[in-house]
Amino acid sequence: MRRMDAGSAVRRGGFATAPLVVIWEVTRACDLACVHCRAAAIPRQDPLELTTDEGRKLIRDLRGFGHPVFVLTGGDPLRRPDLDDLVAAAAAECLPTFLSPAGTPLLSHARLRRLRDAGLAGVSISFDGSNAAVHDAFRRVHGSFDWSLEGAAAAAALSLRLQINTTVTRHNLSDLKAIAALVSALEARRWTVFLLVPTGRARDEQQITAAECERVFEWLHDLSLSAPFKIKTTEGPHYRRVVLQSQAPGRTGTVSGGGRFVPGLNDGSGFLFVGARGELQPSGFLPLTAGNVRTDSPVEVYRSHPIFTALRNPERLGGRCGRCEFRRVCGGSRARAWAATGDALAEDPLCAYQPRGGRSCRAPLRQYEKGEHHDPHRSAIDRGGDRRAPSGGRAGPRPLRTRHLLRGPPSSSIRLRGPSS
Ligand code: SF4
Repeated sequence: MRRMDAGSAVRRGGFATAPLVVIWEVTRACDLACVHCRAAAIPRQDPLELTTDEGRKLIRDLRGFGHPVFVLTGGDPLRRPDLDDLVAAAAAECLPTFLSPAGTPLLSHARLRRLRDAGLAGVSISFDGSNAAVHDAFRRVHGSFDWSLEGAAAAAALSLRLQINTTVTRHNLSDLKAIAALVSALEARRWTVFLLVPTGRARDEQQITAAECERVFEWLHDLSLSAPFKIKTTEGPHYRRVVLQSQAPGRTGTVSGGGRFVPGLNDGSGFLFVGARGELQPSGFLPLTAGNVRTDSPVEVYRSHPIFTALRNPERLGGRCGRCEFRRVCGGSRARAWAATGDALAEDPLCAYQPRGGRSCRAPLRQYEKGEHHDPHRSAIDRGGDRRAPSGGRAGPRPLRTRHLLRGPPSSSIRLRGPSS
């Protein structure tokens, strides 16, 4: 059978048929206690998390997508005793496999070497401050900054691909420039800037404002024109809008410098998250459960479940995102909309843009597609799926009714409305 990578899968059917990235939370156990932890990590392994055999079956099932990027996260995935076996199983299925470890003494050169030898392609290491004082205050464990530095150095020495992750909050806003210098000094290939979503242990008051976010994105775009590393955002898809606006008449900037993104990539659209107990969700920040790998096919759930199909349809968005001409390129963070309003299709409150309304933009996207694109998943630009622009006035956004989507007992139900609704 002809090998099909994530890019060709996307070319054939768009994000409707295959995610670019599958993230598996292999455990919620972690020795850190980060103030903004998405997973609300716990000190010990959950006895109900997927077993080694269940993990192997998940990995085999993911081949139904082709070869998506496969990320093992946590908690701290290094707390899984069978991690080497899982990495080897993923490598045997030709899944490009990456690790998202915590900065603890477990993140050692010897441990990373074993994982590299098992088939690991790269690691992403978090720095939420440019120095120990800021970073360790986030992680709430003294020494985490130094352990993270040692891990990053080990990854580089082992020729593992290194990505640095930073979550932007009120507490490190003024430190971002210094963190960027650290990313450069560590010779990381990519800096992924996360925009906080108030889920797990993260709280609303830790968030920056929409106006501050706009300035951060403009600064990131300027930085991307000269930085020796690639820049992408997570739960900040409106960075794409800022980049495209920078190319508008009267503005400077080039596609080649800042256009390193995949249009339409969003929660449930190019992303699939597998929780520690096997829950199938649109992302780790959007805890809407559409199935479980113990009983359901991840491929079928991703392609067909109403939660996923709704999230991939920009014409169902509400508020400003629903009226926005950038909705097909951006679409706003669905996770933040859910966290803020209880409706996963509502507008993203961290975006300051006031849409002009009307048709979803095409020109900037075409411009982008023709431009030089440095992302390793260049071929994964969403060319498939329904791209028809609305022919004239759109009907107002339909609320996503979810009661009929419920599976199992109400306490474990699928919700596209928040807990307070
Ligand atoms: S209004 Fe929504 S779709 Fe438009 S740029 Fe902002 S977040 Fe993106």
